Amino acid sequence: MATRIPEPYKIKMVEPLRKTTREHREIKLKEAGYNPFSLKAEDVYIDLLTDSGTGAMSDRQWAALMMGDESYAGSRSFYRLEEVVREITGYQYVVPTHQGRGAEQVVFPNIIKEKGDYVISNMHFDTTKAHVELAGGRALNVIDKKAFDTDTYDDFKGDFDLELLEKEIKEKTPGHIAGIVITATCNSAGGQPISMKNMKGVKKIADQYGLKVFIDAARYAENAYFIKTREAGYEDKSLIEISREMYALADGMMMSAKKDGLVNMGGIVAIKDDEALYQAVRSLCVPYEGFPTYGGLSGRDMEALAVGLMEALDFDYQEHRIGQIKYLGDRLREGGVPIQYPTGGHAVFVDCRKICPHIPFDQFPAQAVCNEVYLESGVRPVEIGSFLLGRDPDTNESLESPLELMRLTIPRRVYTDSHMDVVADAVIAVAKRAEELVGLTFDYEPKVLRHFTARLKPVK
Ligand SMILES: *Cc1c(COP(=O)(O)O)cnc(C)c1O
Repeated sequence: MATRIPEPYKIKMVEPLRKTTREHREIKLKEAGYNPFSLKAEDVYIDLLTDSGTGAMSDRQWAALMMGDESYAGSRSFYRLEEVVREITGYQYVVPTHQGRGAEQVVFPNIIKEKGDYVISNMHFDTTKAHVELAGGRALNVIDKKAFDTDTYDDFKGDFDLELLEKEIKEKTPGHIAGIVITATCNSAGGQPISMKNMKGVKKIADQYGLKVFIDAARYAENAYFIKTREAGYEDKSLIEISREMYALADGMMMSAKKDGLVNMGGIVAIKDDEALYQAVRSLCVPYEGFPTYGGLSGRDMEALAVGLMEALDFDYQEHRIGQIKYLGDRLREGGVPIQYPTGGHAVFVDCRKICPHIPFDQFPAQAVCNEVYLESGVRPVEIGSFLLGRDPDTNESLESPLELMRLTIPRRVYTDSHMDVVADAVIAVAKRAEELVGLTFDYEPKVLRHFTARLKPVK
């Protein structure tokens, strides 16, 4: 039975949502070229497009905004943020950035020394891969195969395949590996966590071959919660203790603070003790992000982030957060909807190939389901499948994604469990009549990143 974990907060301020009729949504979706990215947010009732920068700040964060010191250099707010990041990570050096990709663009050019060098990760997030490639490197994923088995339970589907990691290091030779990136939780594998045991294995191999390890820490606090609740030996440790242990296994971190920083915009680089790397990152920060004591953030942003980082390590907060995602997943499973199982840290992924076997991959079955869920309820999900994947750059052929997923991404502290019921009811209703859904074809297809701006139309 799907069970609810009661919210560990009460609501002090509300933002009205607009409920619309199916007729209204039919007009708006058609205007949007059957691509929910082009909908106006005010035509959406429950917005599950992303968990990035969409969270709600606490009263303490809003109060902290007033304490922002907007000095260009040496802002008090920077030192406050630095202190909190040092406390959580145990790292010496801290550089703020405007968001996660800002952190990536000041780090990768400094660790990729030679064109064609590899960065190895359990699974690169797409901007991470993009910045590895922009810096002349190549991104290699070595996630354990269990990540792709969507219906068999495993506690840690974000784990590295350690044998494959070592094999790749030997094959590519350690001199051509720029570093290892641990993505925790592993966004592209469905927000699946990585175990401490596996991270220790990564560290051991890295030490053996003299390689540096970085954590892509966007959802490190969610990962720490999974370790506490799923991994033997961590039951009695606090989330901050577990986080410190995770960070101790790496040499640095890059973070999109729009996730576990509980702010709407922000990013962080932190480096354990490599002063030369820190100086190099600071130097690159100046032209790209700004002077290294603000890095693209206002003083008030840094204040709110310092508070948010600690709030994300509150056990009751995470228990509700992860519990809410599990609740939605359990309701869908009970309703006969195939999902990626178990649910991970930030979203529920619905397997649309199973729901719509009659729609071919190049007519985008998951996009068809997303659109129908919007028409049914005003909920906006997002497609993670062949529509997102795009075409082969050499042959221009449409690529077939291994999975056709609809992602229901849950913003932090924004929606209640009643909203989750609205979502579950809509998805279950759509899945029940899925054989009526038709595929989509292009009206307009942009050359790059087509999923953001393409216009589609239903296949007749
Ligand atoms: C969101 C995200 C990023 C990029 O961060 P932005 O703040 O969107 O630039 C990098 N890695 C992971 C794992 C992410 O989820």
